[in-house]
Amino acid sequence: MSTHLAETRRRRTFAIVSHPDAGKTTLTEKLLLFGGAIQMAGSVKGRKAARHATSDWMALEKERGISVTSSVMQFPYEGKIVNLLDTPGHADFSEDTYRVLTAVDSALMVIDCAKGVEERTIKLMEVCRLRDTPIMTFVNKLDREGKSPIELLDEVESVLGIACAPVSWPIGMGKRLKGVYHLLLDEVHVFEPGRNFTRQDSTIFRGLDAPGLEAAIGAEALAELREELELVQGASHPFDLDQYLAGRLTPVFFGSAVNNFGVQLLLDFFVEHAPGPRPRATTTREVRPEEDKLTGFVFKIQANMDPAHRDRVAFMRVCSGTYSAGMKMIQARTGKEVRIANALTFMASDREIVESAYPGDVIGLHNHGTIAIGDTFSEGEPLSFTGIPNFAPELFRRARLRDPLKMKALQKGLAQLSEEGATQFFRPLMSNDLVLGAVGVLQFDVVAYRLKDEYGVDAAFEPVGVVTARWVHCDDAKKLEEFREKNANNLGIDAAGELVYLAPSRVNLQLAQERWPQVRFSATREHA
Ligand code: GDP
Repeated sequence: MSTHLAETRRRRTFAIVSHPDAGKTTLTEKLLLFGGAIQMAGSVKGRKAARHATSDWMALEKERGISVTSSVMQFPYEGKIVNLLDTPGHADFSEDTYRVLTAVDSALMVIDCAKGVEERTIKLMEVCRLRDTPIMTFVNKLDREGKSPIELLDEVESVLGIACAPVSWPIGMGKRLKGVYHLLLDEVHVFEPGRNFTRQDSTIFRGLDAPGLEAAIGAEALAELREELELVQGASHPFDLDQYLAGRLTPVFFGSAVNNFGVQLLLDFFVEHAPGPRPRATTTREVRPEEDKLTGFVFKIQANMDPAHRDRVAFMRVCSGTYSAGMKMIQARTGKEVRIANALTFMASDREIVESAYPGDVIGLHNHGTIAIGDTFSEGEPLSFTGIPNFAPELFRRARLRDPLKMKALQKGLAQLSEEGATQFFRPLMSNDLVLGAVGVLQFDVVAYRLKDEYGVDAAFEPVGVVTARWVHCDDAKKLEEFREKNANNLGIDAAGELVYLAPSRVNLQLAQERWPQVRFSATREHA
């Protein structure tokens, strides 16, 4: 088998979706521990803390208890290469999360056993369902009292509309937690506080009749388990690989991330059954990961990712072929050929220059303002991947500068931060205003913080008379010129120089659309 094919089959690229506080960060850290990517528990949190120390807007993140950055973590496990794409949990950053979900092949849903299915989880699951993304489920915080496991499965099935196939089953809960039973391996893994719960450091019994099991977990717990299993095996779905791969059934695991309990069972099952890189649609044809010519798309852009480097990075998911340092690629939107010598890879600890990358991998391209979210890169054939969502801003504010000498820096900051896709930056044709559009109100706070921290600009955002924006296109150049003249007061240009109608009211927009039937008004900027 060629290196490309072998490496492709080894890849497992996924994201964790959950409601804030369910335990995503804690679970991420444990997964990285198994991958040997970090040496000690506490490193992911440590990394968070280090970032807080170096940047002010991270202080905002901390203050609000949200994670606004997302990153890519790669680690080897059991002969596989796992790419874990982190997603921000807060609703105001959802468009970022949605785009990350376009770059994965499967997802892991984390649920707090006391809270059950929460609102953000429902939203994120809807996105996964749109693409039939296969989903595994981890019910967390078993060391605390929560809903009964049967109730939790019912909730997932009825609220999220996906069949559940329990793979591990809890024995007790909270103070009575004795362990978990692996339904497919027929093994009991005993919960003993203080253990590491790796295969080397845990007590495992094979079968419910194994000698010593009753002594280890108690006769009452064992009897209860037998009873529950009978119920579960009758009422729930058995694991079915095809149903899982089709996104119709989710294998469910129970555990406690903070105790690392039940995590290795999940990870073992994940690397064995989660899909490798899947084919992806372009405007012209489907691209298969086995193809040997490189293709990939940009799903995320981040400015000033690392305060020490002060650069802008575009994250590209490799969809086919092999990336090797120094190769030439065509950027579909511009038709330009670019040579990429210093793409980055992301380990939990740090970033490095990557020599080669395969389908499923994510590489970081240095962006000097020429790369946009949704861009496709390929070796030769002009292709354009579809399905990377673009969001229409719903809230608008005018930037007010406290120091007029910082105008240039303000414009630069707004333009660069807008490349990330969470905000959009407009300049009205007839005024000197700088208007920012966002999906969530928290974005304005974040931009204000980052302008100060990363660009040294003290700016505030205040109300402006814009309720919605429409990108305008017209095939008839003369008509467009006429439209432009008549509507100059309501027109502006975005960061890419595209013409945008900034409507002062919905009624005004409707009238403009009726009056100018030749002009197309789109709610989002058209990619490519
Ligand atoms: P995230 O917001 O989803 O990333 O959640 P975190 O990983 O930051 O966890 C939220 C809180 O739940 C933290 O205080 C964790 O220490 C705690 N936590 C995580 N896993 C467990 C668990 O298994 N049991 C208990 N009792 N607490 C947990």
